[in-house]
Amino acid sequence: METYFVKEKAPNEFLIGKFEDSRYPTGVYTVTKKRYFSCNCPGFYRQHDKTQHKHCLLIKFWQEKLESASGFMFWFNEGDIEYRRVFD
Ligand SMILES: [Zn+2]
Repeated sequence: METYFVKEKAPNEFLIGKFEDSRYPTGVYTVTKKRYFSCNCPGFYRQHDKTQHKHCLLIKFWQEKLESASGFMFWFNEGDIEYRRVFD
């Protein structure tokens, strides 16, 4: 299963680490929030509707629902974002 961790790198700049049952991330992406969210992964450039890009949706969800708290692990389940707290 693919799981994700989020970290705020700088104001309005976020790192997403993707893990696939692995100890080290299999992907690290940077999401930037200016007027809109953008992501530096290859999928973002290919995606037609950028408001639906999953890494950007993950950051938006994390800010709005979890108030940017740390220690959460995320995964996608049929388009929904699910999460649980793994450490404080
Ligand atoms: Zn992305």
